[in-house]
Amino acid sequence: MNANPNVIPMQPAPSSLVRDFLARKPRLLINNEWVESRSGKTLPVYDPASGREIARVPDAGSEDVNRAVAAARAAFDSGPWSEMLPKAREALLWKLADLIDRNAEELAELESVDNGKTRFMASIIDVPGTRDYFRYMAGYATKIEGVTMQTSIGGMPGAKFHTYVAREPVGVVAQIVPWNFPLAMAAWKLAPALAAGCTCILKPAEQTPLSALRLGELIIEAGFPPGVVNILTGLGESTGAALVAHPGVDKVAFTGSTEVGKIINKAATDTLKRVSLELGGKSPMIVLPDADVGQAVGGAAMAIFFNAGQVCTAGSRLYVHAKIFDKVIEGLSGAASAIRLGPGLEQSTEMGPLVSKEQQERVLSYIESGKQEGASVAAGGEALSHPGYFVKPTVLVNVKPQMRVVKEEIFGPVVVAQRFDDLDDVVKAANDSPYGLGASIWTNNLSAAHRLVPRIKAGTVWVNCHNMVDAAMPFGGFKSSGIGREHGRAAIELYTESKSVCMLV
Ligand code: ADP
Repeated sequence: MNANPNVIPMQPAPSSLVRDFLARKPRLLINNEWVESRSGKTLPVYDPASGREIARVPDAGSEDVNRAVAAARAAFDSGPWSEMLPKAREALLWKLADLIDRNAEELAELESVDNGKTRFMASIIDVPGTRDYFRYMAGYATKIEGVTMQTSIGGMPGAKFHTYVAREPVGVVAQIVPWNFPLAMAAWKLAPALAAGCTCILKPAEQTPLSALRLGELIIEAGFPPGVVNILTGLGESTGAALVAHPGVDKVAFTGSTEVGKIINKAATDTLKRVSLELGGKSPMIVLPDADVGQAVGGAAMAIFFNAGQVCTAGSRLYVHAKIFDKVIEGLSGAASAIRLGPGLEQSTEMGPLVSKEQQERVLSYIESGKQEGASVAAGGEALSHPGYFVKPTVLVNVKPQMRVVKEEIFGPVVVAQRFDDLDDVVKAANDSPYGLGASIWTNNLSAAHRLVPRIKAGTVWVNCHNMVDAAMPFGGFKSSGIGREHGRAAIELYTESKSVCMLV
């Protein structure tokens, strides 16, 4: 192993699969055709491990948005999609999952060179997770149900009513996703919408559009009819905003920052679109005095350093009981310093760069603000002097609740650690945040865990684990972390309208 952790290998050349994909010249997917943007404008895509431009993608403008909405509208209002039997939609989703499996290596590599994460992690988390998500949601296509009810409608002696509630697809949905798990986020959006019978316009993040475009090729190969899935690459404030404002769009599903979520929610009000938002977080991880120190250290490292901390549920606020605080911090700092940074395609790499220069600068400026406000660096705390957007895994201690590093979402490999003595105090501190996405409790005391879970204001509370997600388990946030729940039946509800039918018989 290299003795100097500041010296890391350069990014190896991509495989011929990825080179061939990039050579096909990325385009927009509209009505099952690959087209240029009307303006001809393009956006650069960079490899975060080197900062080199690796592709240019179309920058979709309002004319392209109009074309995509028209295609999705036609496919929903009069295309074969609406007439298709649920089992045929199910079969298409399964076929897509099989194609993802068949092209898994290429997808993992694309995700790595686009986002910065390691190819290894993409191949064990992102790509199989995406495949399984399509398979899970495929089953829902044939299991969308309504209910009947007995009504007590009065004033009509002898009258009888047959009353039921049906669920119908909400229509054309615009789906705007972030750059941290580009392929999986596309799946979280597309799979339930397609199972429910909606048509989609997907907008990947401008930083990471490549795997969505490859997914588009697989969608055509699977045999989805024209207009059912359209993919527009472009900027949030132009392409994304045009989608949100478009009167032909029935629903917007968004994952991203709370700041942009608020803008989208306001903009969607003009046309009263349905909106679901999965937004930011500042998730607390609470380690009780009886917890196993080794388990807590491993758990804390995974909670904050997985995907270089670019995870909306990252365990970014660590609260450890005073009895074991020093031991946990020593273990966590050691673990942080031992993580091998490097380019994503290099086999020995454990953590890749951040997604972009902008993100690297943002994370470093948070670390700087923490230092200036009096925090101490127990591990990391700086960039790597190497091309690419690397930031060392960082542990900050001696932090105070009012510091920006404690209050704001950093979205990078930076954890702030605080000690506590009293359970009531730590509950108050954990809940003292505008966010409420995730939280974890570490203890072997079953009763303590059960007593604590209801006191934590978060959409997901993990016990002795963190960042575990599953297609069956509703996911979303309290407070400023969002509106609505994805996964499981909850996701199907997001993509269907309820229709009450009351028939005088
Ligand atoms: P981050 O801050 O993590 O980059 P954002 O919330 O800015 O995340 O971006 C998430 C997604 O939202 C991206 O696809 C981005 O292009 C899109 N986006 C950004 N601003 C807007 C906007 N004003 N309207 C619609 N979409 C937007």
